[in-house]
Amino acid sequence: MSVSRQNFIGGAGRDGSSGRMIKVFNPATEDETCRVPDSSWQDVNTTVKVAEQALVDWRDVPPISRCRILMRFRELLEKNRSEISGWISKEHGKTREDASAELSRAIDVLEFSCGIPQLLKGEHSHHAARDIDCWSMMLPVGVCAGITPFNFPAMVPLWMVSIALACGNTFILKPSEKDPSAPAIFPELLKEAGLPDGVFNVVHGSAESVNAILDHPGIGAVSFVGSTPVAKHVYERGSAAGKRVQALGGAKNHAVVLPDADMDMVADQLAGAAYGSAGERCMAISVVVAVGDEVGDQLAERLSEHARSLKVGAFDTQPDLGPLITMEHREKVLGLVDSGVKEGARLLVDGREASFERGSFLAPCLFDYVEQDMAIYQQEIFGPVLCIVRVSNYQQALDLIASNQYGNGSAIFTGSGKLARHFCEHADTGMVGVNVPIPVPVAWHCFGGIKQSLFGPLHMHGPDGVRFFTRMRTVTARWPENLIGQRDANLNIPEVK
Ligand code: NAD
Repeated sequence: MSVSRQNFIGGAGRDGSSGRMIKVFNPATEDETCRVPDSSWQDVNTTVKVAEQALVDWRDVPPISRCRILMRFRELLEKNRSEISGWISKEHGKTREDASAELSRAIDVLEFSCGIPQLLKGEHSHHAARDIDCWSMMLPVGVCAGITPFNFPAMVPLWMVSIALACGNTFILKPSEKDPSAPAIFPELLKEAGLPDGVFNVVHGSAESVNAILDHPGIGAVSFVGSTPVAKHVYERGSAAGKRVQALGGAKNHAVVLPDADMDMVADQLAGAAYGSAGERCMAISVVVAVGDEVGDQLAERLSEHARSLKVGAFDTQPDLGPLITMEHREKVLGLVDSGVKEGARLLVDGREASFERGSFLAPCLFDYVEQDMAIYQQEIFGPVLCIVRVSNYQQALDLIASNQYGNGSAIFTGSGKLARHFCEHADTGMVGVNVPIPVPVAWHCFGGIKQSLFGPLHMHGPDGVRFFTRMRTVTARWPENLIGQRDANLNIPEVK
């Protein structure tokens, strides 16, 4: 049965003003799961006013007290883990285990945020100059907003919300309209945890609400995660409106495999990294760079076995992977698979052959002998399609990564410490794995790519997350008593003597 959802503004549910509703579907069954408002500029404007009002008190709540609310929220997330994971699986299609793991990674960032008093201490210089003290204060930015993608409907919003609230900001979340039900649970739980009304708000919608957020003068910072064209748009439009913006985009993550790697272990790891969550992860491995034909042959054989053995199905049938997010996206992925065949890559495992009664399922596909100029190499596929590119040496593998437009993550599989160390320094991506296929950093380190995978200087969570959601103010102070008898105006820039 489909549920009708509202926006959550100022501590209560509110209908959207446009009257338009967006239908959300279970991608495994094509049944409607819910409807959310397609919010307008007016809805965003109302929410900003409410968030501005709530900011007046919230920014002065001591950080430790803000953390206590977040700690209670953490307990409520655990209590509601099953319901939240259930909605993720139902609307995204990923397995229950994967949905629950996503929530765990989200909770990691929440736990990191609960240490915010330590992270907001700033710096202090006693006697910076004679009788002068100097210190920095990390203040909230103000009203902040987050715009999030479908592939991690709980984790990505909580990357942003946890740190932003801990830093004393108020927040407006515009979740993905493809799977909005899991994040729609958060405001109720935050309210139950004791968060004052108006501090956290959810506005559902599509491009109109996103553009309203980007243009609104009352919003100081926008954090975005999604595809590269939209990330670029968000970065340019939000920056032009004078906001601080971080916009994470798409990816094409390469795993370089050297001849000394343990091929059985590598194949196990790569199958999970490529086909898990139907390949709809920004850190999925989509390109295997086999260094030497022997490595290529061994991986082609092992990965073919894996790809053929994986069970595809709805989350309640204990599958290895579920459906793609929509039929439309499935068509796009199929089009790319067709183009790979036309352009001459060898399709070792053809997932198109598996048939399904309904739902946007696609079984794993594996290509070998993929060339750099093919569309399946150039474009982000975001589906269960793995490409093997063969190169003759390690340097060619590095050059391939460097010339790719994306720079989210990369990985190397080797027993050589020397080459692994070289790779960490020279692989042209924001995150690197050594014998780790999905190098998603832990919450207290930063997450983010380079090139077309990130617009803006600051990464997500970790110390960068705190920098993004705070404004630095530096104070230089001398007390009036010190000024007695100093009547001569000095027109030079003061020197420390
Ligand atoms: P998307 O760009 O289509 O949507 C992301 C958000 O932008 C949604 O909230 C959506 O409503 C909004 N949006 C979409 N089109 C818009 C438009 N024309 N104008 C204004 N707003 C618009 O992305 P998606 O399909 O939901 O998510 C998948 C993409 O996200 C993939 O490219 C994936 O690589 C990327 N992603 C990147 C990371 C990362 O860390 N770099 C993490 C997760 C996902």
